[in-house]
Amino acid sequence: MSGNIAAPGSQSSLREANSARIVDTVKRYGRITQVELASATGLSAATVSNIVKQLTSQGVVQTQTTIRSGRRAQLVTLARSTGLALGIEVGRRQMRLELSDAAHESTAHQHLPLPVDHRVDTTLDRAALLVMELTEGIGATLDDVIGVGVSLPAPVDPVTGLISVPGIMPGWDDVDVGEVLRRRLNRPVVVDNDANAGALGESRFGALRGVAMGIYVRCSYMTGGGIIMDGHVLHGDRGIAGEIGHVQVDPTGPICRCGSRGCLNTIVGADMIVDLLRLTRGRMSLQDVIHSANEGDPGCRQVIQDAGSAIGNVLADLCMALAPTVIVVGGELAQTGETLLSPIRDAVGGRPLLGGKVEVVPSELGDRAEVLGALAMAQDAGEPAYVHKEAIS
Ligand SMILES: [Zn+2]
Repeated sequence: MSGNIAAPGSQSSLREANSARIVDTVKRYGRITQVELASATGLSAATVSNIVKQLTSQGVVQTQTTIRSGRRAQLVTLARSTGLALGIEVGRRQMRLELSDAAHESTAHQHLPLPVDHRVDTTLDRAALLVMELTEGIGATLDDVIGVGVSLPAPVDPVTGLISVPGIMPGWDDVDVGEVLRRRLNRPVVVDNDANAGALGESRFGALRGVAMGIYVRCSYMTGGGIIMDGHVLHGDRGIAGEIGHVQVDPTGPICRCGSRGCLNTIVGADMIVDLLRLTRGRMSLQDVIHSANEGDPGCRQVIQDAGSAIGNVLADLCMALAPTVIVVGGELAQTGETLLSPIRDAVGGRPLLGGKVEVVPSELGDRAEVLGALAMAQDAGEPAYVHKEAIS
């Protein structure tokens, strides 16, 4: 950063280190108050205030007065846009894109439906075209984009960038999504799984902000989890950590897409939920079921509650292994609110060793958790999963 390297241990080297810590933290959160900066960095309020003043005079950060919890607070952001980051969520039924500058002021976004079992070539073509449209739409070029983050609805190997469990996204298994987009856009591309992206999104911008050990569970057409440890996503070997949808809940149950028997997804996946209602409600989509549950249909509420109990039991086991303090519940099923959350809370709260200490809360980012996580991945370019670094040169 600075051209003058101070002697280690000296007053000025300490100040430089603290200053770098503050800049990193502002970069990470985008917008953060001085009070939050103090708790995120472990520095005293006075030190933060002094360093922020110095960084403001150097033109590195800027401050503005805001209100937090009814009090005046100084909000710190980076002084100028240092490049655009782009998040893309490729879902089973939809695609979302979000383009933002370093201050995380959302600059442009796009949301479009995708056909069921959409094809990898047409979807990535579309994604690349939309990236160009979005950047051009705000008068920028691809050169202004520092990185692209992509969220996929399947586990992604952080080493190879490929989907690590075949069969979950038919037709996508052998395609290097990061490489395809890098060639099209000539920008660094990071790829990760959707639940991991959602976890990162909530950790940076939502309900897991400041939480050292937390779980994000994505209850959607399939269910998956993302684990946050000290502000980072825990990937594990081949990116499989947190894949709670493939925890066995019924040893005699049907065969799952992954090849195993009786996985959680064979019980709470969208196909099973709509199947359970077919006899009495006819053909419904998952969105129909969610809508009817919210309108008070007892049958639709029942299947969502049962799904919540099944997911909650698996989460309770995961809590015994990880001891998180917060579980954030997102994904489409979470649009039913307490219908889904309450049985999850009961299942987790029912484990005496956890002592009712694990908070179970709804996602703060809602259906944008994954795309905002992909955006954070782009901003970090290099940290969570697979990066095509050659694109940087
Ligand atoms: Zn499975």
